[in-house]
Amino acid sequence: MTRQASIDPQLLEDLVDANHILFNESVVDAFGHVSVRHDKQPDRFLLARNMAPALVRAKDIQQFDLDSNLTDDDSRRVYLERFIHGEIYRARPDVAAVVHSHSPSVVPFSAVEGAKFRPISHMCGFLGDGAARFEIREFAGDATDLLVRNGALGVALAKTLGNGNVVLMRGHGSTVVGPTLKHAVYRAIYTEVNARMLTEALRLGDVEYLSRSEALATMKTNEGQLERPWALWKEAVKTK
Ligand code: MN
Repeated sequence: MTRQASIDPQLLEDLVDANHILFNESVVDAFGHVSVRHDKQPDRFLLARNMAPALVRAKDIQQFDLDSNLTDDDSRRVYLERFIHGEIYRARPDVAAVVHSHSPSVVPFSAVEGAKFRPISHMCGFLGDGAARFEIREFAGDATDLLVRNGALGVALAKTLGNGNVVLMRGHGSTVVGPTLKHAVYRAIYTEVNARMLTEALRLGDVEYLSRSEALATMKTNEGQLERPWALWKEAVKTK
């Protein structure tokens, strides 16, 4: 029996696809990662070993507990920032998938004090009132490497995320969550898209953001048809 024997094989396949899709859609590069909560054991999650997401295969997926420790004997190197995942799963029972990335259009919004990161397009309603901003210096001083490399920083990040879907990480990137893997992938891709569009809009003048009610309504509409973009993104990986 393999480690993943009790995991829904479709979920494992989707996690591998998610790794490839997020690279193909310019969310992750050699860095960044995506995880999914175990479908039968909510206190476990699945995440690739320390490697570039585009190269991940099913055999590269490892299983962790919510302290972000491996649940099996496995000497392969793990991601330094696995605590992002474990602590968000612990804090948010409604979350079943987490994407952490350094997607480049988002980073400026993390770095500019007071910059708003709110939805400007109907595709990005999941941003709601705007993303929270995690300032690591508040928790670990001004000499860190900015990585969420222990449980305490993971707890702090999860707290800053609160009930939101996206948290910006100052000078670093962002973390996006969803109730399913497909939600989290969709949101991660459109978080980067929103950042690109917002950067352009800010050149033109005052930006009219979606209202809270519009954000909620558009989120409901778009996230009711996630199979459509998923099928496209999956095919785009295959045909590249
Ligand atoms: Mn990172």
